[in-house]
Amino acid sequence: MAGAAGCFRQAGIESPQREARLLMSLASGLTTSQLILRGHMATPDDVRETFDRMVGQREARVPFQHIAGTTSFFGLDFISDARALVPRADSEAVVEAALRLLPDSPGLEIADLGTGSGCLLIALLVTRPDISGTGVEADGAAASLAAENIAQHGLEIRAKLAVQPWSEWSGWGSVDLLISNPPYIRTEVVASLDPEVRLYDPDAALDGGADGLDAYRELAGLSQARLKPGTPVVFEIGYDQQGDVRAILAAAGLTDIGSAKDLGGNDRVVWA
Ligand code: GLN
Repeated sequence: MAGAAGCFRQAGIESPQREARLLMSLASGLTTSQLILRGHMATPDDVRETFDRMVGQREARVPFQHIAGTTSFFGLDFISDARALVPRADSEAVVEAALRLLPDSPGLEIADLGTGSGCLLIALLVTRPDISGTGVEADGAAASLAAENIAQHGLEIRAKLAVQPWSEWSGWGSVDLLISNPPYIRTEVVASLDPEVRLYDPDAALDGGADGLDAYRELAGLSQARLKPGTPVVFEIGYDQQGDVRAILAAAGLTDIGSAKDLGGNDRVVWA
């Protein structure tokens, strides 16, 4: 494991020892505390082989969540691979804001635009067993991952998928709350993101155009034109986009605009 940690340090990985320990835990099926108790006992060959393969992947900056094939979000497990953006802890603030804005009445319909892995939609449907929702996703590969996650959580009845661009989706009029974590990174910044993000998260989930705000202009326009009046919308934003996104929503005629931070203290959510 010391060798792996050294490789990780060389590769520029932030917590090399911790990551080596977590990969050994994955490879061996033992918890990290069991591994410590085991001390210097010999590692079986098959575990060593699996571990070495995983170390090679991680050294190439494949995200830990892709190697594990799963990640935790909002206390739930999600299948995680290159088909969609890896669920981020920061996005839990979007789920929390949506839960506060969602009226108490049963039978409501929500929509998650650009659902990707399906994590926002699924977290909301698990927390509110009385509602249903649709994940709208133009990318077929991402939608197939969302379908697997929906099945994993037994939500096939309440969660639908619409594999089409947002503007072509016909369900806007029956939505009671809209959420989205759209692409919001400025095009010129995408190239300087960490390799885990730049190389392994889909570009379509990151690149928000020249000023990073293309998706908000589209979301604001479509929301104003097609949602029932008064329907709450909740969007994830970049840490420095609160003012710009508020202005875009206000210019489109949306009202009662508010915002919230993530656990790291950065602006992360805007709603209207
Ligand atoms: N929060 C993501 C990141 O840090 C970006 C996701 C997005 O553009 N929606 O890379």
